[in-house]
Amino acid sequence: MVPDIAHFEQTVDEAVVKRGRSLFRKERVTQFSQEDGEIRAVVQDGEDYTVSMELSPDGVIRSHRCNCPYDEGVMCVHEVAVLYMIREKRKHAAHQTNVTDVIAHMKAPKRALWEEALDELLAQAPKGREAHAAAVQVHTERAYMHVEHQGDRLVFSSNVQLDAQRQSVPSPCIIAKSPTEYVLIPLTPYEQQVYSTLLRLGSVPQEAESKVKELLATVL
Ligand SMILES: [Zn+2]
Repeated sequence: MVPDIAHFEQTVDEAVVKRGRSLFRKERVTQFSQEDGEIRAVVQDGEDYTVSMELSPDGVIRSHRCNCPYDEGVMCVHEVAVLYMIREKRKHAAHQTNVTDVIAHMKAPKRALWEEALDELLAQAPKGREAHAAAVQVHTERAYMHVEHQGDRLVFSSNVQLDAQRQSVPSPCIIAKSPTEYVLIPLTPYEQQVYSTLLRLGSVPQEAESKVKELLATVL
């Protein structure tokens, strides 16, 4: 059986494994090079011994050679020392990949605030809202959101106002029909949230238009 880098200890004599690991820990593996699965290293063990190996990407040891006189067993201590070196290099490489991934993720363009806000609202849009719409229509006035193109932005305004803290739309909402006449419009929590969010955003870039339309179709 051809051992692989993760399990070679199972096929190599225990004493050889120990001695090889000790050489690796004492940093006797030098001139290590690795290219396309071809590994070369010189192990200092009294004399310098040259080890060469061939590894598949998944870690199967395809071939291994050492110029020392030891010719018993599966491998010599120098080859084992180099295997420990390869294992450590691979661990390090895997860690590096993870770090690269994290950095790439951090560098990825963040979604714009408006996009995040609109997506969140759309995800919460209730499906069966017809019943509510019918009930509200008995009122003479309706809550509305006015969307206007101003330059390269869509600007929101509404007959519904944010509360004093400019945080949310109060419900039921008082809507002025005239300076002396008011109507109360009960808004669902979702509608309140939509109006509040859009009013707080104030305006969004033109590219948000289809999302805004989609969103407004979910409320009155
Ligand atoms: Zn050897």
